[in-house]
Amino acid sequence: MSNKLSVRNPRTGANDYEIVVTTAEEIAALTQRMRTAQIHWREQDLAYRISILEKLKSSIANHRTELINALTADTGRLYISVAEVDGIANAIDRWIAVARADKAPETKNSGALPFIEYRSEKEPYAVVGAISPWNFPMTLSMIDALPAMLSGGTAIIKPSEVTPRFAQPMRKAISEVEELKDILHIVDGDGSTGAALIDHVDMVCFTGSVVTGRKVAEAAARNFIPSILELGGKDPAIVLEDADVERAATSLLRASIVNTGHACQSVERIYVHKSLYGEFVEKIIAKAKSVKLNYPDLESGHIGPIIFEKQAKIIKSQLADAVAKGATVHTGGEIEHHGGGLWCRPTVMTEVNHDMTIMKDETFGPIMPIMSFADDEEALRLANDTIYGLSGSVYSTDLAHANKIAMKIDAGGISINEGSLTGFMHEAEKNSFKCSGMGESRMGPAGYHRFFRKKAIMTNTADAFPIEAFDEKNANFP
Ligand code: NAD
Repeated sequence: MSNKLSVRNPRTGANDYEIVVTTAEEIAALTQRMRTAQIHWREQDLAYRISILEKLKSSIANHRTELINALTADTGRLYISVAEVDGIANAIDRWIAVARADKAPETKNSGALPFIEYRSEKEPYAVVGAISPWNFPMTLSMIDALPAMLSGGTAIIKPSEVTPRFAQPMRKAISEVEELKDILHIVDGDGSTGAALIDHVDMVCFTGSVVTGRKVAEAAARNFIPSILELGGKDPAIVLEDADVERAATSLLRASIVNTGHACQSVERIYVHKSLYGEFVEKIIAKAKSVKLNYPDLESGHIGPIIFEKQAKIIKSQLADAVAKGATVHTGGEIEHHGGGLWCRPTVMTEVNHDMTIMKDETFGPIMPIMSFADDEEALRLANDTIYGLSGSVYSTDLAHANKIAMKIDAGGISINEGSLTGFMHEAEKNSFKCSGMGESRMGPAGYHRFFRKKAIMTNTADAFPIEAFDEKNANFP
């Protein structure tokens, strides 16, 4: 059996790239070397690790053009590829600031036994595995690796086999920072490589679908290693009776279709108060019609091709299911073929309901199904009628009203008067609720602290506890 995988180009449909699948044996050997290298890495102080990540930042900057070209080939879009590469420098700065703010452990005396001193040390997981998806190939491969390395651990990344081109220039950038030898690795491969990783690392951070996330969590449980899962979503947006309709339409169009809707935090369902419904639908249709594909010119237009061929099938089947059950399509609504690539224009749909897969399953495409609601209670019932709990948004000119609704949406990140803010800011700690994930927040300081185990160091400063103290005759009973 060939250990090579060919990779499709989303703009041309041609298989024009190849990766060699990393085997379980290779993962075993690599992680063993990383475990050895980690001993020295961890013994250095934080200032050292910061200086090495600063070097990585420069090395990535030196390979900026190659990285952007590779990511553009992987995803068929330019603006976000540039943002992904340039965003790594910001991410490094942010994690350095979080790590610097971390305080050394304090020695305290026990309240119950004052002669015992204790402190809680933090010990990093030696080898962290990061398994990532295809929608933001570079950002999501580095998002967990950076804080893991700063904590004193090493990181092994397994990017998606759908978008692996960026890994080669990234490996080059990493190899030019000598001190990162066996501290940071990127391995090519498919699900078999991801599965092998879980058998050899001390912690796994997974970003991807619920279906694979469940397999990852089960495998991690078998190995007794922690798994942090960031999975899919079906984010609702609620446009309340007192919302600014123009603002809601502008922001919800962007939040639903940016990156061709291939974002976990994409708005995938829109609920509008019945008093604003007609006006909102009219406005969002007009705005959707002005959106252009970045085809044939990569350097103009707003949205790129559907990156993953299988995703086009999912989008198509959800659209067909909705139409068969009575939905009206106002814009887009089709998978278009241009130049060998697959494309979908922003699709506004009405007359939809929760019997349709488009309102229940993750679509991961530029689709905006809209329903009206009569009151807040109905809006919340519809928004929470999902297995997912990633994020959501609320629009209102009354912030107290918006906050009240935000607190009742059963999801981990709620944007007010904007859509999918979790895609822009990384400071606010959040968990993924329900089937959207598991584990400590990836955002904010918790995103760094999750890479440590706590180790209690306890010292008896008085006499030893003698066995005589435990004589049965000393029992205070009856
Ligand atoms: P996927 O689950 O198919 O694949 C993700 C990764 O898992 C890939 O690298 C794949 O090779 C690997 N993999 C496959 N089988 C495996 C196994 N048995 N063990 C270990 N690894 C295995 O997901 P995808 O289609 O690449 O990505 C899209 C999904 O990712 C969507 O559901 C999206 O919502 C989700 N996502 C979530 C977030 C988030 O932060 N919550 C961010 C981006 C994407």
